[in-house]
Amino acid sequence: MEDMDLYLKKHDEVLYHYDIDDHVRELARKYGFLEYMVERYLNIFGSDAEIFMKSCSAQLKRSLRCNTLRTDCKKLEDRMNERGFKLSKVSWTRYGYVVENTPVRPTLGSTLEYMKGYYYIQGLASMIPPEVLSPSEDDLVLDMAASPGGKTSQLAQLMGNRGVIVALEKNTARLRRLNSNLARLGVANTITVPIPGDYVSSIGIKFDSVLLDSPCSGEGLLPVDPSRRTKTLPQHLREFQRVQLSLLIAGIRSLRKGGKLVYSTCSIAPEENEVIVNFAVEKFGLRTEEIRGIPADPGLVEYKGVRFSEDIKKCIRLYPHKHGTEGFFVCSMRKE
Ligand code: SAM
Repeated sequence: MEDMDLYLKKHDEVLYHYDIDDHVRELARKYGFLEYMVERYLNIFGSDAEIFMKSCSAQLKRSLRCNTLRTDCKKLEDRMNERGFKLSKVSWTRYGYVVENTPVRPTLGSTLEYMKGYYYIQGLASMIPPEVLSPSEDDLVLDMAASPGGKTSQLAQLMGNRGVIVALEKNTARLRRLNSNLARLGVANTITVPIPGDYVSSIGIKFDSVLLDSPCSGEGLLPVDPSRRTKTLPQHLREFQRVQLSLLIAGIRSLRKGGKLVYSTCSIAPEENEVIVNFAVEKFGLRTEEIRGIPADPGLVEYKGVRFSEDIKKCIRLYPHKHGTEGFFVCSMRKE
């Protein structure tokens, strides 16, 4: 852990120093964000920062994933159509649909089809990590932070309910929610374990692939949760970084040689993303892999003067104003 502390300390002064001038103050007042967040948006988006902040007030289209463990997608489309929902298929994700039209009743979360597990209500960007991990049907897969189970159940779907998924969740109330979702969705290849993800490396099992959909500030969820404009303070980001790095280290240690690890967050803060995966590249020699076929921006190779490995540009970033999704980060890495 000494390495991790040194690494975080090395970047701490630059990352947590903010240049707050009158322009930043004015934008923060205008859009209701914390000033340090506005400074970040100016750093990342330049003159598009305002477009981004405005887009956080627009409603995102709702989306769902058709669950082929329970139904045929054509049948789902027809049944939802009869109920007054209009679903349109998203080309870049295998089972994702945008909900274009919703009746007054039933709501998306109270249809018979929902209860029967024919679909899972899931953000489009959140469907990317399991598809990028793309486990095969006989893999042993580790899902390090699993509840409420959107990605665990998607992994099970991609594996045709074969192989084995070990899904960890340290929060027991959330573990119950995970188990209930997995049951509703017909997942039969998953063992859920109530332990913190960082304990897993001490067990000594090596997995073929690892998903770390990490606990994070959730800053990418700004369009669905306005409270996030003022919720996360810099000291919270520091706490998230420590959890993220210790989970990532445990994930790498639990991955077999040649295996793939996908790191994702619903945050657009480089502190929780590029800074974290750059550690895996620099200290553990993981190789990032290209993510093809998804409309997205590349990972940042520089932020506030901190340079990351050139390889980090193979990671992807998604934004509401550019990609019509929640803010998201995904990075695919291979252990050599
Ligand atoms: N992958 C989930 C999905 O797609 O539905 C979302 C995961 S959410 C971003 C992060 C989860 O990690 C939360 O349920 C949280 O309780 C859990 N968590 C937080 N710290 C953890 C830890 N050290 N080990 C395992 N899970 C943890």
